[in-house]
Amino acid sequence: MDDNYALRRVWSELYNPSMSIRTKILATVGPATASRKALHDIFEAGCDAVRINFSHGNEQQRENFLADIRAVERERGEPVAVCGDLCGPKIRVGLINGGAVLLAEGQEIVIQREPVEGTTTRISTTLAELVDDVSVGDAILLDDGKLRLEVVETRPPDEITCRVVVGGVLSSGKGVNLPHTRLKLSALTEKDRNDAAWIAKHDFDYVALSFVQRAEDIEELRAILLADDCDARIIAKIEKPRALEYLDEILRAADAVMVARGDLGVEMDFPAVPVAQKRIAARARQLGKPCIIATQMLESMIECPTPTRAEVSDIANAVLDSADAVMLSGETSVGKHPVEAVAAMNRTVQAIQAYDDQTHAAETVTYEHSPTTAAIAGAVRTILDAEDIAAIAVFTATGDTARMLAKNRPACPILALTPRPHIARRTCLYYGVQAVVPHADHVPEHTREILTMAADVAREKGLAKTGDKIIVVSGRPLLGPDRTNSIVIHTVGETF
Ligand code: PEP
Repeated sequence: MDDNYALRRVWSELYNPSMSIRTKILATVGPATASRKALHDIFEAGCDAVRINFSHGNEQQRENFLADIRAVERERGEPVAVCGDLCGPKIRVGLINGGAVLLAEGQEIVIQREPVEGTTTRISTTLAELVDDVSVGDAILLDDGKLRLEVVETRPPDEITCRVVVGGVLSSGKGVNLPHTRLKLSALTEKDRNDAAWIAKHDFDYVALSFVQRAEDIEELRAILLADDCDARIIAKIEKPRALEYLDEILRAADAVMVARGDLGVEMDFPAVPVAQKRIAARARQLGKPCIIATQMLESMIECPTPTRAEVSDIANAVLDSADAVMLSGETSVGKHPVEAVAAMNRTVQAIQAYDDQTHAAETVTYEHSPTTAAIAGAVRTILDAEDIAAIAVFTATGDTARMLAKNRPACPILALTPRPHIARRTCLYYGVQAVVPHADHVPEHTREILTMAADVAREKGLAKTGDKIIVVSGRPLLGPDRTNSIVIHTVGETF
């Protein structure tokens, strides 16, 4: 038996085409996925939700993406969540004379308030107030941390002098990070406010906010969305060490969280990022908030059709850290192999799933707003430990019960039955949840109707067959707010 044969056999033992894959994939769209065909192909490869990054592109391109995504969603008949990702106060170097300069280690350079065409001795940034907020000794990182400056003198109100600690080539528009400085900035810039107002008027399910520092940043964004009656869920992107200090308050204010490892790895020393990832994911699980792990998951696939082994391990470990979703950025927005990247991610999360099921420790979910829902989720977990269950069907008006069940990471699919298409889309970032909007012309009232509908949909979706047991979670009246109060173990095909 040759080695390849043995390896293929191991994979075929892990691979089960009928196994539903529970970890969700959020893919960033861009030029590499800018057609209905390309979008269709990434959904077929296993993508569940897409991110439109407001750091790039223009309004017309975003409108086109939205129209194409929704067209493909209708065509495939499966819900898709769309997330608008606001840039936040990403600071950039201003224009540099000739496009780039070489900064030598040990030299001094001035950063000034007013825009200037940069030289080796003087530059400006897109944030005029930077010169007000830094103190002597603060680090200023340029170009994703490749270059490092240290503030040696502040000369209010116009400029600061820095020493180059790590030199290199600096070009126009490169990112600026201030890991130690508490910027007196809201996480929402003027551009973010305009983009959020635009999002509120369009068909988005999630809004991600970059560089969140405090819960107030989330509340400010929510007020803008609500002013336009937009109920899109807010994802707090954790990419500043300061956000970790306020993690609980941020998680409570937000609806979901993203471990944005790109900027986080610049703002913190990179070995600290995996620890932060584990901490954020664990706390999100306890507080019942979906967690997305993002950035450089398959970076090499921007160029190559196959991933590195380290990347595959990184994705598998994100699943073991209890991510609800894993994200692709450049791989699907500008990469050469977007479909292969989604497929590689999908196969990887599937392969680790069975191992995760065997090893995952039970976790207490503390759902502060609805202890009943948390108790129901705990009770379902107890039943799963005792019985062989094919699927959990949950009737949900807001998606909250499905979200809480997901946080207990059951080893079977969660079928969310909801009359609301926008709630079905929302569940695209919840671990293990498959949402269906039943075509019923009336809401079932009696237990037997509820159980029959749940069993029929589970059968149609291929999640259960006659004789299988399913758990049905519902409430009285069905789909009333905060009414989830009943659990039934039902055998598919049983009549009353
Ligand atoms: C990140 O920094 O990891 C991230 C997800 O942010 P963006 O892709 O928006 O820069």
